[in-house]
Amino acid sequence: MTSRSASAAAFAQAKRFIPGGVNSPVRAFRGVGGEPFFVSRAAGSRIWDVDGNEIIDYIGTWGPAILGHAPEPVVTAVREAAARGVSFGIPNPLEVEMARLICQWVPSIEKVRMVNSGTEATMSAVRLARGFTGRDKIIKFEGCYHGHVDSLLVRAGSGALTHGEPDSAGIPRPLADLTLCLPFNDREALRAAFQREGAQIAAVILEPIPANAGLYFPEPGFLETLRELCTAHGTVLIFDEVMTGFRVARGGAQEVYGITPDLTTLGKVIGGGLPVGAFGGRAEIMDRLSPDGPVYQAGTLSGNPLAMAAGLAQLHALERLDGWSRLERLGAALEDRFRSAIRRHGLEERRTFHRIGSMFCLFFSRGPVRNLADAAQSDREAFARYFHGALDRGVYFAPSPFETGFLSLAHTEEDIEETGRVIDAALAL
Ligand SMILES: *Cc1c(COP(=O)(O)O)cnc(C)c1O
Repeated sequence: MTSRSASAAAFAQAKRFIPGGVNSPVRAFRGVGGEPFFVSRAAGSRIWDVDGNEIIDYIGTWGPAILGHAPEPVVTAVREAAARGVSFGIPNPLEVEMARLICQWVPSIEKVRMVNSGTEATMSAVRLARGFTGRDKIIKFEGCYHGHVDSLLVRAGSGALTHGEPDSAGIPRPLADLTLCLPFNDREALRAAFQREGAQIAAVILEPIPANAGLYFPEPGFLETLRELCTAHGTVLIFDEVMTGFRVARGGAQEVYGITPDLTTLGKVIGGGLPVGAFGGRAEIMDRLSPDGPVYQAGTLSGNPLAMAAGLAQLHALERLDGWSRLERLGAALEDRFRSAIRRHGLEERRTFHRIGSMFCLFFSRGPVRNLADAAQSDREAFARYFHGALDRGVYFAPSPFETGFLSLAHTEEDIEETGRVIDAALAL
């Protein structure tokens, strides 16, 4: 039996001083029961907890750690940058280098502004779209997560078109009412919404590959229809690529699907593990930001030199190492292990595996999974047994059936083989 007594003691202390003992709710393991472990250090594909247990990690700090933990290029870049000063609040050349790299790799982005988290990026992008169009309403999709922005913490009830029902206390009803929430992959619902109120819709925001309610994909034609409707109605199309940006391809999901959004939000991989986000897009829209335009947006620590150095080092290393093709090969190997374990246990009718590149999800339900309603069918008790079974055997998957797993370039063939044995054992529980 794995000992977690030091983690248990740390969690008891944490609960006295931090609400729920955590600084972000999913870390509390409420989705699977039990208590979180506390990390003492991490390197490559591995984490060591405060009890000395060694764990193969498939979360990678929820996406940023695409090179693995504590990668040498990032650590060196941060150390060198820190020696020159940890924050300036004055323009520095690394900000320009980062902006130029983003604009080069993501062609829909002509201008970009750095912020400190994905939440800040989506919040600012929505404000900008509203300021640019002079309209108030926005459309989002059920199951798409865009950070804890008031206007975006809304997911909807049943029905083709439901006016917003806030997911959190503290969100003013009149604000939630401005958010229309639609089922993903439903072109008819989208057309109907635009037909009814197209002239009032400032923006449509979506994860082009939804990865916060499990992982599922846009069906052929869905993103194309969305692009056409937004263009026809003068609505700003925002791709939230906080998770997919620089991960599914150098140019993100928009490169994979060949769709050009008006604005894009970025985060996670772009910061190399430091707190970074960004939003950018058509210059005509971005130029409406202060100080040039009337839409206010600012940040004391935005473009922070440590964060820029870390992000640039990570992005350059990804390209140098041919990261995206290597991640695809590792992903295919891991997928093979999942699929053979599912077959071996005769679970084909009760498990559904999805993957794109280094992102994957095992649904504890029968497929197809194409939206939140499908994803929500997951057998949560079976998932919790599998999760704890894997963790007890040294493999850490996300502590919720509605999260995506991540591979990094630090994962080895041996890690994947070991993981295959663990999946096989955990699926039998
Ligand atoms: C993680 C995430 C966010 C929020 O980013 P934070 O840095 O946690 O604020 C927004 N959108 C998507 C798609 C995400 O995955």
